[in-house]
Amino acid sequence: MNAVELPLARGTVDMATALRTDPVQLDQFWRDPATRVLRVHEGESLVSGDPPKLVLTAPEFVDGGERYFLGLDEHGTAYFASDAPVAPGGGERLAGIRAVGGLLDDRDIGLLVHAIALANWHGTHRHCPRCGAPTEPVAGGHIRKCPVDGSEHFPRTDPAVIMLVSDSDDRALLGRQPSWPPRRFSTLAGFVEPGESAERAVIREVHEESGVHVSEVRYFGSQPWPFPSSLMLGFLARARTTEIRLEDELVEARWFTRDELYLAVRDRAVLLPPPVSIARRLIESWFGGELPNPGG
Ligand SMILES: [Zn+2]
Repeated sequence: MNAVELPLARGTVDMATALRTDPVQLDQFWRDPATRVLRVHEGESLVSGDPPKLVLTAPEFVDGGERYFLGLDEHGTAYFASDAPVAPGGGERLAGIRAVGGLLDDRDIGLLVHAIALANWHGTHRHCPRCGAPTEPVAGGHIRKCPVDGSEHFPRTDPAVIMLVSDSDDRALLGRQPSWPPRRFSTLAGFVEPGESAERAVIREVHEESGVHVSEVRYFGSQPWPFPSSLMLGFLARARTTEIRLEDELVEARWFTRDELYLAVRDRAVLLPPPVSIARRLIESWFGGELPNPGG
């Protein structure tokens, strides 16, 4: 369990990792009409209803595409993902994690982030990094194996740190990246470098992006962010200095008091990241409650 309940960190289906290496069992699941398949393609899946539910189907209705074993639920129902183009039927629509991640129930969001993270990896890692030969999915889609040299390649997850920095007056530091829509402010964030701890990445990224020195780095919680393959590690950090010096990663950075942020959000002078993001949860954790979400 996370220290805090994060929208994309939910999930109830047991990954049943021991079964991945049992192809006979996986084939048996695939022949069982009670098995449920989540079809994903290019970051989207089919949903229906309001609040939305994933559209799951029996294996016999799945047309082509690699299949990935997602796990078993408490009733013994097996779940797979399949990656192939899919067209919405009556009452169905295509949606991605950003649109429905906060609205799906625990089982569905767990299945969706697992399926999309896997599909993103398979889509971009089809050749052996040692010899260049095309690789084949094995272990229920959780390994790709090279038929030439036998090397095995595992799905990659890229750790990124994201941090709410507060100062001794309990103001929060938020910034704006040049590619973001106007008025969007969020917490600072960046990828962990090779050979670096997450805590050191927090200290380095905050200083690189804003010129602010931080200490007292405390873990907050994590959630998958498969755009395409990140794991967001959330932290709280305390500023030792407050002077802001921008390099080229941010176009703007500001210290906000709670009142300033509340009014700016209410008046739409500042647009916060969506509720499905860990950034939003970090900001609201500092704020002490939910902030308005004008315009959804
Ligand atoms: Zn190879």
